[in-house]
Amino acid sequence: MRQMEISCSKINLYLKVTARRPDGYHELETVFLPLDAPADQIEVDWEDEPGIRVVSSLPGLPENLDNLAGRAAAAYARAAGLTPSWRFHIVKQVPVAAGMGGGSSNAAAVLRLLQRRFGALSEPVLAETALQLGADVPFFLHGRTAVATGVGEIFRYPEHCANCPGALLLVNPRFPVSAKWAYTHLAPERIGADDSGKLALLLEGLRDSDVEKVAAGVLNDLSAALFDKFPLLRLLRRVLRENGALAAEVTGSGPTLFGLFPDAAARARARAALQERFSPESIVVFDGGVHRA
Ligand code: ATP
Repeated sequence: MRQMEISCSKINLYLKVTARRPDGYHELETVFLPLDAPADQIEVDWEDEPGIRVVSSLPGLPENLDNLAGRAAAAYARAAGLTPSWRFHIVKQVPVAAGMGGGSSNAAAVLRLLQRRFGALSEPVLAETALQLGADVPFFLHGRTAVATGVGEIFRYPEHCANCPGALLLVNPRFPVSAKWAYTHLAPERIGADDSGKLALLLEGLRDSDVEKVAAGVLNDLSAALFDKFPLLRLLRRVLRENGALAAEVTGSGPTLFGLFPDAAARARARAALQERFSPESIVVFDGGVHRA
């Protein structure tokens, strides 16, 4: 028997690094917005050969237990005492190592598929299994707009903030940036609490569907190092701004940029301007679609 699951992507509308822990991890305060465009699809065959197989539509993506989705399946089987014979096929649309959480989302989608089929883990054990796989995996288990703290695993869901007003455009420059690189190059003086009031503004904007307020609340502590290192990102940000973006920022650890526009018509104009100026070999552009859980 086969089943299919959508594996969302995400952007971070706000990402403040609040502390560096002695173990090297960073504590954050971040706003995750789940997107179902772009998204991956995962198909599972429950009655394959013994073991766990993971393949994908993307040549070069790690397979089987080297893929985060395979590690998620193995962790579930171990925690639940199951003997797997599962094959997962991932149709990849979300860019890899892009700050959009693709791998983490695939892992969470596999945990959801397994939990739906076997129901073998309690909610806390499932959440702990997700966290062991990666800091962003717990968010994707539920995929609801959330403010996350800790290393990104403590959530609150502010009321009436699920949707994002305006229209989102995502621009990926076709080169990967590892989260490790972004955190290593974060200037230590940036780390600390935020007294700018931006988070409150952002949440007010989401609640009131006020796109200008949302744009004024956009922040990412990790982006300064990325804009410094990669001139293409500075150029893309400029083109987004010159073509009507109210905010243009890196998502997560980059290098994907998102532009927030007043409406879909403005977004379409910016998309056309980008595509006129940059070839499909140098950038991939997506209209962002917010996932409503
Ligand atoms: P995040 O926003 O969580 O930091 P990201 O978008 O920056 O995520 P991912 O796309 O999740 O990064 O993947 C980063 C690394 O994980 C890549 O080196 C990739 O080879 C590896 N990886 C393993 N499994 C997967 C998967 N299913 N999808 C994407 N990448 C995977």
